[in-house]
Amino acid sequence: TSNSKRDPYRLDKSNAHFRKAVQKMPLGVSSNFRYWGDNNTVYVKHGRGARVTDLDGNVYVDYRLGYGPAILGHCHPEVDAAAREGQQVGTVFALGTEREYTVASMISEMVPAAELVRFSNSGTEAVMAALRLARGATGKDHYVTFEGSYHGLFDSTMWTLDTDTIQEGREPDIVSYGKGIPAAVRSLFWQVPYNDAQRLEDVLKKHGHTIAAVLIEPILGNCCGIPSKPEFIKAVRELCTKYGVLMIVDEVKTGFRVRRGGAQELYGVKADICTMAKAVGNGYPIACIGGREDIMRNYGRGVAHGGTYTAQAMSLAAAEKTLTILRDTSALDDIAAYGTAMQEGMHKILSARGIPHSFTGHPSMSGLFFRETPPSNYRDWKTSDYTFYDTLAHHLIPRGVMCEPDSREPWFISTAHDKACLDETLDTFEYCVDLTIE
Ligand code: PLP
Repeated sequence: TSNSKRDPYRLDKSNAHFRKAVQKMPLGVSSNFRYWGDNNTVYVKHGRGARVTDLDGNVYVDYRLGYGPAILGHCHPEVDAAAREGQQVGTVFALGTEREYTVASMISEMVPAAELVRFSNSGTEAVMAALRLARGATGKDHYVTFEGSYHGLFDSTMWTLDTDTIQEGREPDIVSYGKGIPAAVRSLFWQVPYNDAQRLEDVLKKHGHTIAAVLIEPILGNCCGIPSKPEFIKAVRELCTKYGVLMIVDEVKTGFRVRRGGAQELYGVKADICTMAKAVGNGYPIACIGGREDIMRNYGRGVAHGGTYTAQAMSLAAAEKTLTILRDTSALDDIAAYGTAMQEGMHKILSARGIPHSFTGHPSMSGLFFRETPPSNYRDWKTSDYTFYDTLAHHLIPRGVMCEPDSREPWFISTAHDKACLDETLDTFEYCVDLTIE
């Protein structure tokens, strides 16, 4: 009942499991980001549709969806049936199968920039492969990324703006995500503010002859969902062409989510190389690299790409089904409509209390930002009341609205989010906003 939602969850079983797990696994988890503290780390029993149940039986409306993949909801019956059918092929053979062509063709049809396609297992692997391809194709080593972006776990991309060093009159520091990332990598890239074409051109004009690629998230899926301004992403496209640099559009989060053809369709831009992952397989591990034929043919002309598990049959079958549903049904429109309705509901609740706020990104993956006007780059994020978000999130999660505790991560919607989820979410949201104000 909605009344019991007023009480925060208890995590007795999760906490007991944590104490056991931490003896065998660092932080008790398989990804540092899943550790939410010694007494606050949630372990999942199962997910169904838009809801996730933890070990203690607490049920959440899930707006994380595993950072986006479960676009049709958890345990989607048709996708899971397809995956089981894929298993009948076998697991891995170190040989190709026929379905790779089928799925690659679907991807090409939905994302015109992906004239040719290669598969990977994760977003990280796809971006690694794309960057190597760009270097191999151009014979250049350097690259450009944008402040606030995230492109996966490998050394080349694990660099970010140190927001503590934002001050008038000096450029903020770019720092690695942590120990173990060689400082030598820092000399290989430039990182420029998002939505600032002039700063990009300054770099390309001076250093374009050593730069293989500009790597861009069309919507900063790891920084409040800050979207590219349409004129910005078009300028990135033009500048890349002008300076002989390849444009890699990282659609790991936006791909097959914001449109059938991803953010490239939304903005009307065409990448030289693009990467898609999360929504491709509704949670089964699969990702892809797509690109211009002349560039992609460099796989086969000396650029290495492979991997034991690439195009694994189960994931490939799940991808074929997921993409078929996303292509042939109103799924993406339904998701966007839910996202819009949720924003309208939140807007009403926040406005009634005079709380300055704005929404960023796309309704299917939007950020909630506590400042009157939405941010246009990572430096802006620092000027919002993100501690308000943090407090709000820490009231919402224990009461059954599983949003991301970090305000830089968007809220993801799936086709399984229905009217009941929406009503429950807004009801809990209103209650928690009041708790946050108190
Ligand atoms: N690129 C972007 C834009 C992402 O959002 C992510 C993950 O969140 C990645 C790459 C890395 O993907 P994965 O976690 O599948 O390795």
